[in-house]
Amino acid sequence: MNKIQMVDLKGQYEGIKNKVNASITEVLDSSAFINGPQVHEFQKELETYLDIKHVIPCANGTDALQICMMGLGLQPGDEVITADFTFAATVEVIALLNLTPVLVDVEPDTFNIDVKAIEKAITPKTKAIVPVHLFGQCANMDAITELAEKHGLYVIEDNAQAIGATYTFKNGKKQKAGTIGHVASTSFFPSKNLGCYGDGGAIFTNDDDLAHTIRGMVNHGMYKRYHHDVVGVNSRLDSIQAAVLRAKLPNLDAYNEKRRGAAKKYSKAFEGQANIVTPKTVNGCEGICDTCDCHVFHQYTLKIVNGKRDALVQHLNDNGVPCGVYYPIPLHRQKAYVDDRYDEADFPVTNQLIEEVISLPMHTELDDEQIEFITSLVIDFVNQ
Ligand SMILES: *Cc1c(COP(=O)(O)O)cnc(C)c1O
Repeated sequence: MNKIQMVDLKGQYEGIKNKVNASITEVLDSSAFINGPQVHEFQKELETYLDIKHVIPCANGTDALQICMMGLGLQPGDEVITADFTFAATVEVIALLNLTPVLVDVEPDTFNIDVKAIEKAITPKTKAIVPVHLFGQCANMDAITELAEKHGLYVIEDNAQAIGATYTFKNGKKQKAGTIGHVASTSFFPSKNLGCYGDGGAIFTNDDDLAHTIRGMVNHGMYKRYHHDVVGVNSRLDSIQAAVLRAKLPNLDAYNEKRRGAAKKYSKAFEGQANIVTPKTVNGCEGICDTCDCHVFHQYTLKIVNGKRDALVQHLNDNGVPCGVYYPIPLHRQKAYVDDRYDEADFPVTNQLIEEVISLPMHTELDDEQIEFITSLVIDFVNQ
């Protein structure tokens, strides 16, 4: 059996080596390292893939989130509601901009932001909601869009983990993750579903004016060379990363399909296990279906409900199987973000998830033998 990895970037590279190398060589030969033609081509190709008017490449997913908030003109003191159970980047940029983060609980089955909790947290100061499409599946965008319209709020999708996923609205309409809110951010960190070989990110929007504002903001607030109209940042996707992404984008659907295939095999093996809760797929379909891309499994995350999660992590590691706990500490209890405004009683789901979740190896190169080895280890240990 091949050595099991949490993410197998080397294995994936083997399959696209010629294409990636040729694409990178083109950049080396042109010496257009910054804002070269590859960046523009990638932008156009991603716009077409997502069916969105504007993709604005930038340096990473955290910058992308920050620039979304700057572009919308959010001001110090404005309240921004986001999930307590996610990576810290979201709350970090809110705090950096002197906006007021308002963390709310998530749903127990999808791990995504709880719409009832958002509604409860809305005040006259609320300006935006940031749903994070966690682990590869969209938050409840029907309800979030409705709530945002009702209260006049912006919706900023943090789409770092769900690129390529499709959201099906209650009325049957389908849209790609990241094209639903006013603006969205994504990350091309190497381990993301569409990852480059360094740092990278992008912003998506259908709003022409906002796109114009943001294009200047990522480039020192310049709309005309050496005329700085607003305070901006320096946040660029470099041409070599764009070259890698151009080589990989045509494979994104196939890669997501492979992830879904692995997820299906995991879930099938865990069927009927009383102590293991497999990830739930919602948004237009039940279960992990063959025909739609409602979940792109950035992570395959189980809940171990008999208190053996930590011991299982140890057991898997002892047997050469990497795994992850995403996330072990709720944001409202992180030193940088603790605040008297938060009440533990408002986070029952997150507080439980941090004790129960475990993410198994998930990537495009997992084979049946590896999945069988992992699932047997988990089942035997959890039932001991
Ligand atoms: C990875 C990630 C980010 C940050 O992306 P970087 O490119 O690492 O800055 C933001 N939000 C979420 C949910 C992520 O998973």
